Amino acid sequence: MKTCYWKLVENSDNALAHKEAAEFIKAGECVAFPTETVYGLGADGLNAEAVKKIFEAKGRPNDNPLILHISKKEDIDQLTTGLNNNAKAIMEHFMPGPITIVINKSDIVPDAVSAGLPTVAVRWPAHKDAQDFIRACGCPIAAPSANISGRPSPTNAQDVMEDMNGKIAGVLDGGSCNIGVESTIVDTTEAVPMILRPGGITYEQLTEVLGVVEIDPALHGDPNFKPKAPGMKYRHYAPKSPVYLFEGDAANCVADEAKKALEKGMRVGVLCDEATAQKLSENEKLFLANWGSNRETLASELYYMLRDYDRTMPDVILAQGVSEEGIGLAIMNRMRKAAGFQIVTLEKGSLLINGQVFQV
Ligand code: AMP
Ligand code: MG
Repeated sequence: MKTCYWKLVENSDNALAHKEAAEFIKAGECVAFPTETVYGLGADGLNAEAVKKIFEAKGRPNDNPLILHISKKEDIDQLTTGLNNNAKAIMEHFMPGPITIVINKSDIVPDAVSAGLPTVAVRWPAHKDAQDFIRACGCPIAAPSANISGRPSPTNAQDVMEDMNGKIAGVLDGGSCNIGVESTIVDTTEAVPMILRPGGITYEQLTEVLGVVEIDPALHGDPNFKPKAPGMKYRHYAPKSPVYLFEGDAANCVADEAKKALEKGMRVGVLCDEATAQKLSENEKLFLANWGSNRETLASELYYMLRDYDRTMPDVILAQGVSEEGIGLAIMNRMRKAAGFQIVTLEKGSLLINGQVFQV
């Protein structure tokens, strides 16, 4: 299949591109589009046959439900049997924005979207082109991230093309996504709302509005808990090279460990902040991904940097952890999964991994 490409112009209405892309959606095809979080791979969310094409293009397991994207508040009504106060409060305070609510679904939502669950996940993105494109389609748009399953999500149109060229009808290119990690998913079906996936809206922002908010215990990687969002159980966001994530006080040891590995002749990727990058000399910076000093920048560049490591393929990647405050919770969730839960900690002066002394 030939994949059409539309370059969107910032601060312009891009109506023709949205209309042409929407024609493909109406014909039951898939089109990738930008949002403020990551690029989505969209299809008509009420057309089960179209939705199946998303799963095929991504190689996504069928038991992993999709998020339905809407372009205005009222669009949610037909998708649900009713909103409780928590769902209403989230809509009022955080939508449109980088948040998804899980609610009880109505009969019009196909099983292909909800993967047979009695609930549906709904998001109203803040990105203007996403809204205009969805409006032009005239239906809710089912859209997971526009990557091959298991790879880091795409945050620019080139990364979408790398995974999807020839497999989908088109890509709307709106440049880089500014948030860079996916939406926060909140289950609102129980009395206490629960974060199933941390994302663009933070835990702190949610508790301020909703009071008590739980976090799915499975997010900590404990195999005794099954994640409530089916997609969270899969290996995800992982580059091909092995990743070690240095957490807590160990985060300060990344530069020294990188030097040791370099001395052994390894091609070492280092994903770190400016202060750690400063500790490396110019010829030690071959595969350096330096995100500066601002965690919002790390969030927006993380997937690009992880995908870039699939192009350079270092022998090992040493990643520096950050605090879990604010957007840090979403960043650390993605980094832990990218590392396959290979977490390095500093205990009594020694670097440990899974209780063993760490050595690159
Ligand atoms: P993606 O669109 O690739 O960012 O993934 C969507 C995420 O939303 C996956 O982790 C899904 O498992 C999760 N999700 C979608 N629908 C539901 C639902 N009804 N209940 C719980 N999680 C959901
Ligand atoms: Mg995804």
